[in-house]
Amino acid sequence: MKCSKCEQTAVFESKPTGSSLCKFHFVESVERRFKQEIRRQVHFNNGNTTIGVAISGGKDSSVLLYLLWKTMQKKKNVVLKAFTIDEGIEGYRSEGLKTAEKLCNKLGISHEVITFSGSFNTEMDQVVRSGNLQGSPCAYCGPMRRDLMNRMSEEFNADYVALGINLDDYSQSIMMNVLRGDYEKMLRMAPHKNRIQGLVPRIIPLRKIYEKEVKLYAILEGIEHDMGWCPYAMEAQRNKVRSLLNSIEENSPGTKLAIEGFLEKLQKHDIKQEEITLTEKCLICGNPSNGPYCQSCIRNGKAKSNKLSI
Ligand code: SF4
Repeated sequence: MKCSKCEQTAVFESKPTGSSLCKFHFVESVERRFKQEIRRQVHFNNGNTTIGVAISGGKDSSVLLYLLWKTMQKKKNVVLKAFTIDEGIEGYRSEGLKTAEKLCNKLGISHEVITFSGSFNTEMDQVVRSGNLQGSPCAYCGPMRRDLMNRMSEEFNADYVALGINLDDYSQSIMMNVLRGDYEKMLRMAPHKNRIQGLVPRIIPLRKIYEKEVKLYAILEGIEHDMGWCPYAMEAQRNKVRSLLNSIEENSPGTKLAIEGFLEKLQKHDIKQEEITLTEKCLICGNPSNGPYCQSCIRNGKAKSNKLSI
């Protein structure tokens, strides 16, 4: 099979566009879409723009860091600062951490680690072993991770925090909010234009790039990444949505892009994200919340629930 743009052998076939691409044109296509998203999502200041990058050592965040580094290399006033969240999941995070550290050293980017144990006095393994879970482990881990992400970005004085969320992940998250009927949460999804109530805006420049494209890009560009899976991931509701979307995409290529485009249009034309705000402040940590306590304090055990006893 030949490349649709030149005489070289194709290494990738894109079903939504019907094109086949050689190594050179595939890499070019990924980088072009990434840069387009950077232009859409980042408003560069006249002074320095600092981007905090959440890196787990997995393929998505490693490709994200590498592409940010490659794209920003010539921009003297952009500073990248990477960090890894260690949730305390035995046999999973340690390998990713080593890979993340190695990549940061190679690219000359500073790297810090923040742990659940140091911040919440608990670890995910402990939370799961407690046997008091209501819902999946991810429902506990997610809010605590978001809390630490924001804390690290505040510490870095970052203008943005970049997350390695590919198109597959993003379309799943949109659908999960639809299935739960959580319209407000869906509209609050990244990318964020502005700082809302102290939350550092999140950017997701991989949102239009399929997971398999991220994987292939990592291989072709020689980006080392950890391939381990979180042992708790299998319990997530996300897995059901993932299989459903994969089977629809197989029959109707481009479905995931259409789901992403649907939310993008909603956010662009009809809704001001700033107006879909979290209305209260957590009584414990002061973070924005939808009740007396934020989800992080409820999930890490500092608050019992959002129902106040009178
Ligand atoms: Fe946390 Fe769930 Fe991700 Fe595992 S899969 S790290 S439990 S959010």
